[in-house]
Amino acid sequence: MSPSAVTEPGSRDPPDSKSPAITKDGQKRTIYHLDRHLHKDFPVVVSGKGNHLFTKDGRTIFDTTSGAAVSCLGHGNERVINAVHKQMTTGIPYLASSYWGSEIVDDLCKELINGTDGKMAKVYLTGSGSEAMEASAKLARQYFYENDKQTPRVNFIAREGSYHGNTIGALGISGHVARRAPYLPFLMPNVHHIPACNAYRQRKEGETDESFVARKALELEEKFLELGPETVIAFIAEPVVGAALGCVPYVPGYLRVMRDVCHKYGALLILDEVMCGMGRTGTLHAWQGEGVAPDLQTIGKGLGGGYQPIAAVLISEKVVNRLSDGSGQFVHGQTYQGMPVQAAAALEVQTILREENLMQNVATQGAYLEKRLKSLLADHPHVGDIRGKGLFWGLEFVRDKKTKEPFDPKLGVAQRVSDLALSPLYNMTLYPGGGTVDGVSGDHVILAPSYIVTKDDIDYIAKVTSDVVHQVFQEIG
Ligand code: PLP
Repeated sequence: MSPSAVTEPGSRDPPDSKSPAITKDGQKRTIYHLDRHLHKDFPVVVSGKGNHLFTKDGRTIFDTTSGAAVSCLGHGNERVINAVHKQMTTGIPYLASSYWGSEIVDDLCKELINGTDGKMAKVYLTGSGSEAMEASAKLARQYFYENDKQTPRVNFIAREGSYHGNTIGALGISGHVARRAPYLPFLMPNVHHIPACNAYRQRKEGETDESFVARKALELEEKFLELGPETVIAFIAEPVVGAALGCVPYVPGYLRVMRDVCHKYGALLILDEVMCGMGRTGTLHAWQGEGVAPDLQTIGKGLGGGYQPIAAVLISEKVVNRLSDGSGQFVHGQTYQGMPVQAAAALEVQTILREENLMQNVATQGAYLEKRLKSLLADHPHVGDIRGKGLFWGLEFVRDKKTKEPFDPKLGVAQRVSDLALSPLYNMTLYPGGGTVDGVSGDHVILAPSYIVTKDDIDYIAKVTSDVVHQVFQEIG
């Protein structure tokens, strides 16, 4: 249906007094889409190509965020579109993955396992990151249940200032205060949060990487001991915290010490790479930066690059063997998972990544983005921290640089930065967040451009970001 089909003046729209009568693109319409109804004037996008989105009112927007770190190959990639089309023409975009085999699904799984340095053994495909997180939690619990139906392992340890998805289980694992608040009474129980690994906010004067991560390991160990080590199923963490804190990377050595604590007590390590994985940080998997493989890993966003909804759990041999030697089943499954058309898109995205050596571009342009952002904004009185990895960078805003005091969340600083960037003055996306994530951190914006960006693109992104930040704080005063 063309957009105008629902926007004709005088059409039989049911009364909806709270929707805007005239939207930014000049149309009279009743908005039926809840997100647009509640958040009002999103620009209406009609097409995309490369790093650009084109709106109905004739604007060209530079997509610095790849949506939410999703469109890693940019928009309108012909190879991926053709791969999806080819799969559609077989007549089987969909197959029930628990009944039927599919070569393209098998090919994708092989491609994914080949990318793990032999550290992971099998793939469990899902339709979203939240589903992958919940499947990983169930797999982890089953790992213990297979051996002992009365297993005392009932607890998960996760982190403050984390985001693992919006479903009841995934949000239960998350430590994002504001997103959890309305739903607290029925979030997944038995999840216990420890502090994140946030060098900017937590590192003490003179503390080395080694002593900092040793302190982090102690926090985890203390939580194990408090709960009873024999009750813990797994520790769950994002190697680079995305939406919640704004690209806060692990401190060197962190993944190793945290894994060692888990394994000391017989528990599993689950790494959530839904946002930071599939090349975003300059290695295919963020954990490859440390060479510390988890027992279970989730991936999403950059897996299908936005061309199809697809995510997955990567499962280590240790966990696979426990299931194979035990019940021989994983009692799970959802309708839209492991679809051939999802696999066709993801396989093509991953093949392009590998064939065009885009990891190298992520590393090169990422290093340049860091340099440009720091040279333009490091001295700004309200930019407290510029941190990230690869093409995944966050700016944290603070009222006072010395004390790191955040702005009052009511000011909506990050949203203002994002809104001004997207306004017709700048026409660029910046992904806002923070404020009420953990009661400590400030507002932030995320930059997560596509892996096909050039040096000129980076110059543009850094300049616009800097101009926008300067203008917003001039206005705030
Ligand atoms: N995990 C992380 C780290 C995420 O950033 C997200 C989404 O932003 C999720 C899980 C949930 O993924 P989805 O939105 O596909 O359910």
